[in-house]
Amino acid sequence: MKKRKAVKTKIKTNSSNGGRYRLLLELIDRIPDVIYFKDRQGRFVMVNKAHAKGLGLKPEQVVGKTDFDIFSKERAEAMIKDDEYVMRTGKSIVDKVERATRPDGVDNYVSTTKMPRYDSKGKIIGLMGITRDITRRMQLERLEKEKINIEKKIESLQEISNVKSDFVSIVSHELRTPLAIIKEAVMLILDKIAGPVTDKQKELLSKTEENIERLKKIIDDLLDISRLEGKRLVLHYSLININDLLRDTSEFFTKLAAQKGIKLEYRLPEKEVNIFIDSERLRQIVVNLINNAIKFTEEGGKISVEVDILEAMVKVKIKDTGVGISPSDIPKLFNKFTQVSKDASAKKKGVGLGLAISKELVELHGGRMWVKSQLGVGSQFCFTLPLLYTSHILPVQMRDVVNNLLSKDTALSLIELFIVNYEKFKDKYNVNSPRLIEDLNNILNNLCKEFSQLYNLTPQIFSHDSQSGEFSIVFSEGKEDKTNHICNSISSQVKDYFKKNKIGNAFIKVDIVSWPLRKQALGDQNRLSNFNMKKVLVGLEVRRFERIPYKLKAQIGLAANKKEAIQTLDISEGGFCFEGRSYLEKDAHIDVGLNIPRQKTPIYTRARVAWVKNMEGLVGNSGSQYRAGLEFLGLTEQKKKIISSFVNSLSSAAKS
Ligand code: ADP
Repeated sequence: MKKRKAVKTKIKTNSSNGGRYRLLLELIDRIPDVIYFKDRQGRFVMVNKAHAKGLGLKPEQVVGKTDFDIFSKERAEAMIKDDEYVMRTGKSIVDKVERATRPDGVDNYVSTTKMPRYDSKGKIIGLMGITRDITRRMQLERLEKEKINIEKKIESLQEISNVKSDFVSIVSHELRTPLAIIKEAVMLILDKIAGPVTDKQKELLSKTEENIERLKKIIDDLLDISRLEGKRLVLHYSLININDLLRDTSEFFTKLAAQKGIKLEYRLPEKEVNIFIDSERLRQIVVNLINNAIKFTEEGGKISVEVDILEAMVKVKIKDTGVGISPSDIPKLFNKFTQVSKDASAKKKGVGLGLAISKELVELHGGRMWVKSQLGVGSQFCFTLPLLYTSHILPVQMRDVVNNLLSKDTALSLIELFIVNYEKFKDKYNVNSPRLIEDLNNILNNLCKEFSQLYNLTPQIFSHDSQSGEFSIVFSEGKEDKTNHICNSISSQVKDYFKKNKIGNAFIKVDIVSWPLRKQALGDQNRLSNFNMKKVLVGLEVRRFERIPYKLKAQIGLAANKKEAIQTLDISEGGFCFEGRSYLEKDAHIDVGLNIPRQKTPIYTRARVAWVKNMEGLVGNSGSQYRAGLEFLGLTEQKKKIISSFVNSLSSAAKS
């Protein structure tokens, strides 16, 4: 009490406090909260601007009025009741939340705090109040509650979905056995084991067999989809040559296509394309896509199955000259149970799960699937899978050893030593190729011995190719720290060797190649730590432009007019390198905008995707999916000047 009095007197008497007093008044006037002072009779003694403004009046016009002059009778009575309580008891009402109607008729929520006012003798002479509009706060609280409710609903829907998946899985499993028995019986009758069969019976039984196969396919698809949904699908990796797998299917499909008068051809690369993959699942994807192509292509049409080797991926393309898909149907094509064909006979052969399963399987392997199609012209279904750089040099017997280890779920590490641009490397350093290969071979062999003792690694395999300067080492060890140790030792010993032999200006880089098993980690944590793959890159520093590490804000144009904001990792006069979330196809031409400091607008130009690397699962990856290098295309002289002077300024800054 005494304190209050003291403060009041101080404000009034001490002129040095005048500034602060003004600040206080300014606060009261500017604050959006309603502030008022009332006397014992409930008359406003003073109100702030917010209060008066809310009533459409000036503060002096409110002074002297009571709540009854302003609000409805009920509301005024409720307010007066609170006022009387505060003034009678001397107790404050704090943060009382009420619904109210603003003078402009809008309903809102307010929080009111009322405190008694005293005179110098400590007698209550009125009250002061603050009322705050808390409609937004209440809305946020309501939204928060709704969010919690929705989350609960999602959780229970997820539970229902899990039960559904389990149900589909159990029922499908249960259907498989009797179906197999029915098929067996039909085959026995067809093979006349149970006695003679008439032609009519044979025809009926053949139809039955056909439909059993269809039913089996539907059951298998349902099982797959329930496994994928429940993240229970386990991939069984092995190292295979994708060309072999495709060739295996060629006889069957070429015949099937020919029966419909369709020409099917395979365009496969000459060299082996080894990939780590679940070969049965890859077969399933390919079979589904080729089957579809045949199903939706008319007589006289053409289908091609092509394999392209990209930077770090292998791309499979199945192209047909069939009925095509309308642009509006393309976005839903990979959804479950989607059939967009108007052709009833083609439709009834499936249930619309094939593409949904194929896409998920590809993604599970660390790849991507997409389609380009034009109604009446044809479709192109493409998918990519991660490629292993040096795996094509692994001899067949080594492939068997690797596959054997993988089938036993043994932890594996694959380290690749790779001399980039080997031919040029040899020319520049005038190295004697067999000697260099032999020396590197010895370095690796000795390290292998050392590490096999240190880490007790068995077995270890080692291979090299004197033609291309590529080495692969496979350890039965999957722990990241151990493979890092091995890689670093390789890199430092190779460095020493280069120094000794006066091979200067070469780069040696240990790189981690993204590994598809990381995707599977969602469902199977153990496998994550079970595989490790690294690259040690050695090569010439041959670059047309000096690349300067710099984080420059930029945008890249994607398909369908979409843009992605990115930051460069480095920039040169010829292009830049960055990490982004969207997949870009190698050699694609895209729009880029560079926000070069002190330029009013971004510098826009076209660029070619020179290389792309899948970054998923990389250690320390901050959510980016891909790393890519872009090469500027068709820069105008003016833009060239701006970019080069910017890059030069960075370069001289770096040097100084
Ligand atoms: P289904 O097993 O029913 O064929 P899919 O998921 O494999 O299911 O295919 C879904 C739908 O996509 C098909 O019903 C068809 O409408 C369309 N489709 C798939 N492949 C092609 C293609 N090559 N050409 C035209 N339409 C296709």
